Amino acid sequence: MMNNNKTLNEIESNRSTVIVESDVELNANVDDKYKRTTVPNIPNISESTLLRHYTNLSRKNYALSTTMYPLGSCTMKHNPLVNEKIAKFDEFATIHPYQNEESMQGSLEVMYELQKDLCEISGMDYFTLQPAAGAHGEYTGLLIIAQYFKNKNEKRTKIIVPDSAHGTNPASAALSGFEIISLKSDENGIVSPEKLKEVLNGDVAAMMMTNPNTLGVFEKNIEEISKLIHDNGSLLYYDGANLNAVMGIIRPADIGFDVMHINLHKTFSTPHGGGGPGSGPVGVKAFLKECLPSPFVVKDGDTFKLSFNDKQKSIGAMKAFYGNFPVILKACAYIKSLGGEGLTQASKQAVINANYILSKLKSKVKVPAGNSCMHEFAMSLKGALGNDIKTLDVAKRLLDNGYYAPTIYFPLIVEEAMMIEPTETESKQTLDEFIDTLLNIIEESKTNPEVVHNAPVNTSVRRLNEVEAARKPKLHW
Ligand SMILES: *Cc1c(COP(=O)(O)O)cnc(C)c1O
Repeated sequence: MMNNNKTLNEIESNRSTVIVESDVELNANVDDKYKRTTVPNIPNISESTLLRHYTNLSRKNYALSTTMYPLGSCTMKHNPLVNEKIAKFDEFATIHPYQNEESMQGSLEVMYELQKDLCEISGMDYFTLQPAAGAHGEYTGLLIIAQYFKNKNEKRTKIIVPDSAHGTNPASAALSGFEIISLKSDENGIVSPEKLKEVLNGDVAAMMMTNPNTLGVFEKNIEEISKLIHDNGSLLYYDGANLNAVMGIIRPADIGFDVMHINLHKTFSTPHGGGGPGSGPVGVKAFLKECLPSPFVVKDGDTFKLSFNDKQKSIGAMKAFYGNFPVILKACAYIKSLGGEGLTQASKQAVINANYILSKLKSKVKVPAGNSCMHEFAMSLKGALGNDIKTLDVAKRLLDNGYYAPTIYFPLIVEEAMMIEPTETESKQTLDEFIDTLLNIIEESKTNPEVVHNAPVNTSVRRLNEVEAARKPKLHW
């Protein structure tokens, strides 16, 4: 780093490139007191040094472009680069949301097509593309449910959430003003209709479900559950974050769901992580259309138009303008390029890949939900590791071996949980390498526990002192 006590000459010695003297004349009218007397405190380095700096920084990171990213519940699949290219087309990248409808027909068409394709994939009748993420979609969906009962003049205050649910489910329900009833899963990790009956009453507005659920298990009683919920006058919400397991195989609307969100940044392959942009479109059955946020895109002859719901009956806007348009665009390109058959194939391959890993691990670890799974599975490492070695240690040791660490200690109902979701875009060779690595670490936890306990040693940042981080956080650097 340079500092401003250094003279230009001293700094020049750090350069590997020759800088030509400026031939622009100094403006004689500038008062001396405004003229710089010292060198500005900015890095004064060559382009090659700068390039190396950023390349080396990027290498300290874990990313899908360097390694398999088996982060359960996150569907970290490969994002085809051609979709990035399309998102950079001037025709899309330079439009302004205040442009009039006639001048952005192409972009409206993209939104219209995506709405239509999501309806086809999910069986729902209408979609809004506004929500900015899965959790935002849940919030939108629950506001729609609240609005529906308000429009009917019916007071319902509770939402049922299974105990296997993603943490965002109860959080979104609370944020939307509902009380939460937590429903315990049965011994197979799924919702039991019998237990559901015990908590159902006239206060229940809706039940939220993820299917397959966060254990990677298909909720096979869904039709019975749907009947119980609807006979009670309640609605069924589908957390569509796990849609990658069932595209082209089942449609949430066909198995009883009324409202759902889809994480475009999971199932439909747009990059995410590190807080990157997301998109959580929400779909509804026709009877909920009037509650949807505005605007959405409709087709009138050959023209695409924005359509607005009655303000009194709808929940209003959930985000400025149309949602995260580049994400919408990339998801649309992805769906169009795979087509119905390709998407179905992707789901099947995702399920096969997860089952392949599960089958190679199940003699060494406990898998509470059984011997097969959908697109992911949660295993318990309790009893599988050397003394005092925890799931956290195994995750850290995976970092040493070049893998991003899987999701751990989630879902909460699995002790010492580790959750693996390989996605369909990893090859058998990559899966085999990952399995070998994980089995080696499990072995190492018994033969050489110190190494596992001290991991990671190959990363740029070692293990943090979590107690200190919580008690005395360093909030700047
Ligand atoms: C990822 C996920 C969510 C939340 O989605 P975000 O886009 O991260 O807000 C909700 N439910 C499940 C099951 C998930 O996997």
